Amino acid sequence: MVKRNQKVLIANRGEIACRVIRTCRSMGMSTVAVYSDADEAAMHVAMADEAVRLGPPPVSESYLRGDAIIEAALATGADAIHPGYGFLSENPEFVEAVDAAGLVFIGPTASAIRAMGLKDQAKTLMEAAGVPVVPGYHGDNQDPAFLKDQASKLGFPVLIKARAGGGGKGMRLVERVENFDEALASAAREAQASFGDPACLIEKFIQSPRHIEVQVFGDTHGNVVHLFERDCSLQRRHQKVIEEAPAPGMTETLRAAMGAAAVAAAKAVDYQGAGTVEFIVDGAAFPDPEAFWFMEMNTRLQVEHPVTEAVTGLDLVALQLKVAAGEPLPFEQDDLALTGHAFEARLYAEDPENEFLPSTGRLQHLKFADSARIDTGVRAGDAITPFYDPMISKVITSGSDRASALRSLVRALEDTEIAGLQTNRDVLIRLATDDDFAAGRVDTGLIARRGAALVDSPPVKALDLAIAALAAIRAKGDTLVAAYRHFGPARQSVAFEDHDRVMVEQGNGNSVATPLGVVAFDRVDWSGDKLRFQVGGLKASAAVFDLGDALVVDRRGVSHRFERQRFGLARADAGANAVTAPLTGRVVAVTVSAGDAVVEGQTLLTLEAMKMEHRLTAPRDGIVAEVALKVGAQVEQGAVLVSLEDVS
Ligand code: ADP
Repeated sequence: MVKRNQKVLIANRGEIACRVIRTCRSMGMSTVAVYSDADEAAMHVAMADEAVRLGPPPVSESYLRGDAIIEAALATGADAIHPGYGFLSENPEFVEAVDAAGLVFIGPTASAIRAMGLKDQAKTLMEAAGVPVVPGYHGDNQDPAFLKDQASKLGFPVLIKARAGGGGKGMRLVERVENFDEALASAAREAQASFGDPACLIEKFIQSPRHIEVQVFGDTHGNVVHLFERDCSLQRRHQKVIEEAPAPGMTETLRAAMGAAAVAAAKAVDYQGAGTVEFIVDGAAFPDPEAFWFMEMNTRLQVEHPVTEAVTGLDLVALQLKVAAGEPLPFEQDDLALTGHAFEARLYAEDPENEFLPSTGRLQHLKFADSARIDTGVRAGDAITPFYDPMISKVITSGSDRASALRSLVRALEDTEIAGLQTNRDVLIRLATDDDFAAGRVDTGLIARRGAALVDSPPVKALDLAIAALAAIRAKGDTLVAAYRHFGPARQSVAFEDHDRVMVEQGNGNSVATPLGVVAFDRVDWSGDKLRFQVGGLKASAAVFDLGDALVVDRRGVSHRFERQRFGLARADAGANAVTAPLTGRVVAVTVSAGDAVVEGQTLLTLEAMKMEHRLTAPRDGIVAEVALKVGAQVEQGAVLVSLEDVS
């Protein structure tokens, strides 16, 4: 029987809530948002027809409160709940509670989620279904000595994975047997903190691995199809950064083999709705149709589903809604075709030069490219808070072939204007223009191999400083300058933190003497925050965003921030006697005590924040003067955790 789900509650926030609302609306359904106090004015709340408050900002008191969400659905008369991804999307107890309340869960059954929920059980099930799995130990024995023995039998390197894992949490690569014990303890600790389950499995580490996953769809009539593959090999610490479809170099033979394995995996659990079967592929053997193995199945819509939409022309959320209403899939496998190529880049509020830690604060300036599909949950002026995933948007482009889709991606990223917090935009541009990536030579280690070349922003050039100085003078008003012009060229000086004075001489042209060199502009044309200029034979453009305290100069994918000088304010001593918390979190390990001599780079303590462990290290050699806290302490961003004194 076809149900009529007229009103859908979206049990999520951010870009995915907005994306689901958009499709519901296009299908004539009304929508209910839920929100925490931190999200009261968020975009998804504004977009929905109705919105219900869940509670305070922490997820355990808001977006993970299944009871409050079901209550909100019943109170607003919603027929169905779309879970998005993350939060309650793969929680079988929640699905059962939704069913028990007489509501429709837009996703698979609780039993399918449960069967795939733990990596060890899922591997056992897949072996039985004839799906190839990564060699390793996925049994119940959690004795560290036994696991170490299993790892040795497999041969190093091995990967330790939390069986309840997700998002790369609780995962450790171990290259040598000597490192096994510590890695296992740390993985289990992270797993316990993130999932409340410390159990781990051991897997053979596949060398130069590629992550290729297959989108599957099932309906309630027993039909299952696959919607081809996505290559998500570009990862940083096991987290996807840029995804694409199809996989570069894919052959019809391998695609058919992987597609059939994915469909078999889904059928083994009577899968309904959108799901993804993730495989690891041996890059060295690619495209050998035998060199791929099941890693796990994600029983929900994936973050990267838009690339599949771009190459199939389907709306996966619309399909989810139809399947949840009891409709059969509107196509069979042979009706589906793959056209062109698509990319998705994940734009994050994070600081690449500070270990990619989340960068919280206000998006003082935000403007997305018109040329790309942008899935976002924030607008200019919104804040990225420490409570949730710091994603700003997904940037999705497509083209008739890989090269043109990639060119569009670079262009769209360059045209993305953000100022006010740190982002990974420039890193994404460097990645998208990487020679190996452009040639389709991808594996999960590429980002780590590039190291600092990818992460460090190029040094400030005289031109950047000169543009900042012109913008600073312009912000003060040109009138003063005009008055002096009668008496010859006007000279003004501009001061930024960390740079010596810049002298700007405005006469016929603009000559700017910076400590990095003199830049003689022949032409300077402002239009809003955009500058077109000419220096000698070079004509180019830049954008300058004035944030009050600072100016951000953005020259096609390379941005630099110049702090306006604050007179009379001594700068904080960067001499680093104090080790402070880079973000709000909880102390999970303290490895030094007062009086210990430490060397630069030595681990002092481990902080868990955003469900990840961060090692804090000594900024210099010294003696630990004080450790201000104990394991278990909650610390605020900026709090002094350890102080050092000189070796006497
Ligand atoms: P999670 O559920 O935490 O995301 P996955 O099992 O999906 O963990 O693995 C995440 C990523 O880790 C994969 O995309 C791949 O890059 C890498 N990976 C996983 N298993 C292996 C393996 N056996 N060998 C090499 N790399 C692996």
